[in-house]
Amino acid sequence: MSGKLNKKNLIFIGAPGAGKGTFAGALKAVHPVAHISTGDLLRDEVKRGTELGRTAGELMKAGKLVPDQIVADMVRARLQQPDCDGGFILDGYPRTIRQAELLDEVLKDLGRTLDRVVYIKVADEVILQRLTARVSCKNCKAIYNKIFMPPKQEGVCDACGGELIQRADDSLETAQGRLKVFYDQTSPLIELYQSRGLIFEITELDLDKASKQLLAELEA
Ligand code: AMP
Repeated sequence: MSGKLNKKNLIFIGAPGAGKGTFAGALKAVHPVAHISTGDLLRDEVKRGTELGRTAGELMKAGKLVPDQIVADMVRARLQQPDCDGGFILDGYPRTIRQAELLDEVLKDLGRTLDRVVYIKVADEVILQRLTARVSCKNCKAIYNKIFMPPKQEGVCDACGGELIQRADDSLETAQGRLKVFYDQTSPLIELYQSRGLIFEITELDLDKASKQLLAELEA
């Protein structure tokens, strides 16, 4: 299935570990959309040791959210890059009602609209199991799971041969905290976007089946 992508300006909402990054990868493999993960953008700032990275790093390590305005400015800049012309996936953004309001302003300024908000709904037990077994490539950021989706060779990325590492905020304690942040601060967004008729919900756990459902919806 790879027709034309008719709904291409997208938000992916889901608890940490719900599969937002994995679905974004699946969509990006067949359509030229920009994958904008605010978590990846922030981790990059931390790695580069920028001022923003220093502010964000401590909060991220503790599983807390980075201030709304900082993330909005970062997303505003990112959305103006040419690879977003064919569509974009906002992965992990917005995460609070305030962020959704700021995003509305950014999109209005840039003359863009949202086509769909994909809500990936996964049970808490599955989330915690997934997060604590999740590893990702230090180099190309591909995501694996030591239990459900292991790489061919332990610790090595199938795609680029890079080293696989666990994120510091994927320890059980921090993962539980991040799940609570999702329910407290992010889940109200589902109702907000529902009221705008934008929500498409995925409950299928099988990645291939779920990816097909998603593609069918966005290509319709
Ligand atoms: P993620 O990779 O999306 O799970 O994000 C990792 C961490 O980055 C989060 O736990 C937050 O500390 C921070 N972060 C990512 N996206 C946002 C956002 N939209 N707003 C605030 N903090 C964020």
